[in-house]
Amino acid sequence: MIITKKKNIETILEYLKDSKNIYLVGCDSCAEQCETGGEREVKAMAELLKREGKHITGFSIPDETCYSMLIKKHFREDNDTVEKTDAFLVLACGAGVKAVADAAGDEKPVFPALDSLYLANVARYGHFFEGCSLCGDCVLGETGGICPHTQCPKGLLNGPCGGMANGKCEVDMKNHCAWATIYRRLKIQGRLDVLKKIAPPKDYSNSVKPRTVVVESRSKK
Ligand code: SF4
Ligand code: SF4
Repeated sequence: MIITKKKNIETILEYLKDSKNIYLVGCDSCAEQCETGGEREVKAMAELLKREGKHITGFSIPDETCYSMLIKKHFREDNDTVEKTDAFLVLACGAGVKAVADAAGDEKPVFPALDSLYLANVARYGHFFEGCSLCGDCVLGETGGICPHTQCPKGLLNGPCGGMANGKCEVDMKNHCAWATIYRRLKIQGRLDVLKKIAPPKDYSNSVKPRTVVVESRSKK
């Protein structure tokens, strides 16, 4: 899931300073779990903006705001409200903001209420950690399922730096060194020979943006 945090309200009010009629869009998926864009946060934002003299034309909390077709359909069905809206404020990740901006058309400004931080694993409800940086060239097969790009602050690909101490990371001693953890796991699996191979430099051509994927079998449906 995508982790988001709230922007400060001064930034949001600055975005909206030339707009009176505001439509709010939340997200019932990741942003709801982060408590940044679910129903409670959207309603709280609506109340806050009303106190600032804004008129709320409406709000919606789609199941997944990054789903562009869903947002376009929703706006088509509620075109009257969209017409009456000066600006949209989106309490979702950047992909959600992009979906709303595309659905709202070129003339209506769309603003983010959140900052998007990272793709996260969910340790348990409300506890998230970063496990993958979406590099497009996965090396987890050689690293025991532990990502050196993400778990090592230096992104080292061929073993630990000189700062590792007692299995801890010199950048933050609260954390285990990624490479100490990789070594430990590969040793348990009897696969330490994997570490004798020198990992080549990262092929960043796999992560040239913007990236698109078409799943052929699904796109024909
Ligand atoms: S190597 Fe790390 S950042 Fe790249 S895809 Fe695998 S888990 Fe994600
Ligand atoms: S101590 Fe380990 S995790 Fe920390 S920066 Fe060095 S190699 Fe990376």
